[in-house]
Amino acid sequence: LQARAVALHDSENESIGVLVVMTDVTRLNRLENLRRDFVANVSHELKTPITAIRGYVETILEGALDSREDTLRFLEIVKRQTTRLEAIIDDLLTLSRIEDRSSKDDIKLARMRIRPVLEAALQTCAVKAKEKDVVVEIDCHESLEARINQPLLEQAVINLLSNAITYSPAGSTVWIRARKSPDNEGVEISVADQGIGIAREHQERLFERFYRCDKARSREQGGTGLGLAIVKHIAQSHGGSVTVSSSPGRGSVFTLKLKR
Ligand code: ADP
Repeated sequence: LQARAVALHDSENESIGVLVVMTDVTRLNRLENLRRDFVANVSHELKTPITAIRGYVETILEGALDSREDTLRFLEIVKRQTTRLEAIIDDLLTLSRIEDRSSKDDIKLARMRIRPVLEAALQTCAVKAKEKDVVVEIDCHESLEARINQPLLEQAVINLLSNAITYSPAGSTVWIRARKSPDNEGVEISVADQGIGIAREHQERLFERFYRCDKARSREQGGTGLGLAIVKHIAQSHGGSVTVSSSPGRGSVFTLKLKR
């Protein structure tokens, strides 16, 4: 609480009391802390690849050029880190665009069939699934509809599907299921895998920007740590939500709940 006090006087300048104004700054402080954390996180995430790029370029300049093999190896690393920077910046831009549009109520929803959206998302991830030898199955009635923004929902399903494939073992299956919610008021789209799963203590924080259960593993897989934050914003921009249920070693199910 922030307090300000003003002494009050009557026309004879006699003191008649004190006016105290108390302002609850908890929320403001919390927002300020979130903003500060976010800027610190972004800076850190961008600095990591940049430091690596500088290190390898300096090494090349300092003489590794003598060995063509080393030079090529270092340049490969530089290229990979640049791709990483691009991925982080793309995700940050996506996130800020959705936030911006959500705050202006600028996201147009239209009643559409869900199945083609799931198929389009699968198409985007098909190469990755094939490389990892993961089979993806879609289970969604042809006629199922909901009020959606098609490119945004497709992006959300791509993010969930891409994670499911990343964290699944070869030879396993990922299911994308969509159906009316039990109360018949909405639609639930879930992406289920048989992968490494997520420990309980991580589950609540997964949807925060840059939160990862295993930093090294996520980076190695080219993750930006922003995928689920984007999914959460997309769900919210549809007036819906996203939840996770998972047990380590057995797999995870992420469920998007949308209104019909
Ligand atoms: P990333 O780019 O690191 O995948 P996300 O925001 O998409 O970032 O996910 C955050 C973290 O949640 C990941 O780093 C990973 O630890 C965990 N995660 C997400 N999806 C899954 C999944 N299907 N199975 C296991 N862990 C997952």
